[in-house]
Amino acid sequence: MKKPIIVQKFGGTSVGSIENMHLVAKHIIKAKDDGNQVVVVVSAMSGETNRLLGLAHQVDSVPTARELDVLLSAGEQVSMALVAMTLNKLGYAARSLTGGQANIVTDNQHNDATIKAIDTQAITDLLEQDQIVIVAGFQGVNENGDITTLGRGGSDTSAVTLAGALKADECQIFTDVDGVYTCDPRVVPGAKKLDVIDFPSMEEMARKGAKVLHLPCVRFAWKNQVPLRVLSTFDVNAGSLIKGETGTQPICGLALQRDLALVTVDHDSLAALTAQCQMLGIEVWNVIEKAEWAGVVIKHDACAKLDLVFSNKIRNSEQVSLLTKVGLQAPELKEQCCALLAANNIGVEHVSTTSQSLMLMLSPQNIDKAANILHEAYIDSQLFVAVEAKHACSG
Ligand code: ADP
Ligand code: ASP
Ligand code: MG
Repeated sequence: MKKPIIVQKFGGTSVGSIENMHLVAKHIIKAKDDGNQVVVVVSAMSGETNRLLGLAHQVDSVPTARELDVLLSAGEQVSMALVAMTLNKLGYAARSLTGGQANIVTDNQHNDATIKAIDTQAITDLLEQDQIVIVAGFQGVNENGDITTLGRGGSDTSAVTLAGALKADECQIFTDVDGVYTCDPRVVPGAKKLDVIDFPSMEEMARKGAKVLHLPCVRFAWKNQVPLRVLSTFDVNAGSLIKGETGTQPICGLALQRDLALVTVDHDSLAALTAQCQMLGIEVWNVIEKAEWAGVVIKHDACAKLDLVFSNKIRNSEQVSLLTKVGLQAPELKEQCCALLAANNIGVEHVSTTSQSLMLMLSPQNIDKAANILHEAYIDSQLFVAVEAKHACSG
């Protein structure tokens, strides 16, 4: 009988030291000893991608995209070899593969590539030889064989895409928290762990900044129905299962996105500004039009790129953060939320809504406080019930 296939992914902190790699090896060995075929995806050691990025920026504020991918992909290559060596030393046969060796083929969008196809033959050959296969996350190769990377946090996407291609029984994302919480537990200490979270809510949380899962990872798992679980490397716990199609929670959670910039121009330059962003592959988080100016919200580190070609039209550029409330009732709570924050002396610079989210633009120094206030009101004390009751009365 064919053995089940499990894909396990270990993030930066999990492979952050040789000591931690021994904990990683324990999880891998447990899965192997339980009778599974095991494919492992690793990130770079914590801090390493930032260190490499820092070196690149010492050379050029906008480094050549192709060369940046060659540089950044080296971080994952270090981890994959060290994890494979650790397993070998412990008596387990393991072989490491770069993205290219694992035949992970992407499009040509350097620094933010999308996986197009994976030929799993190289991996299944090794699994048949009873090897544990360790694959470098975050990277692939384009059709010319050039190294590409998948965007920050992209190893989650490598893992889930491999799980889909291998028809794995489960994709396990091991990280430094023991699951998906109602908000980043490092910001809101009272955040609650969700045993199960549905795909639409998880997608919205990831899109709005809950970096526990990379957005394309959630999308791929949803579309391809890959069983996906988030769990801790440092704790024995069932973690959080991402499952189901329908959001049921009035408010499911809060997501924070820091490191954004509001770049403003005169109204008549807005179309050119958004077109430039699109041409440069810069994601636009929000388009804002006020009486005096118009602007876009983009990642702060994309400003240098935009400045190169558009600086003469830019009026101002300031750092902002977004705090997003996710859940079926979130959009209805706009006035109540702003009033609550105003009562705590927190001004909201802009508000926008989608069908299941309310997005507040705030000054960066206020975002943690605002997250704690809204979490306490809407998740701990379920303040939305009052809005529901009001609707019932007025209806
Ligand atoms: P890894 O290096 O393992 O990929 P990341 O740093 O990318 O780990 O993601 C894990 C981090 O995500 C946690 O340490 C936590 O601070 C953050 N995080 C943000 N939002 C959430 C959330 N809703 N639930 C859990 N963790 C979250
Ligand atoms: N090492 C990459 C990063 O820091 C990819 C990842 O960790 O998923 O973004
Ligand atoms: Mg991550």
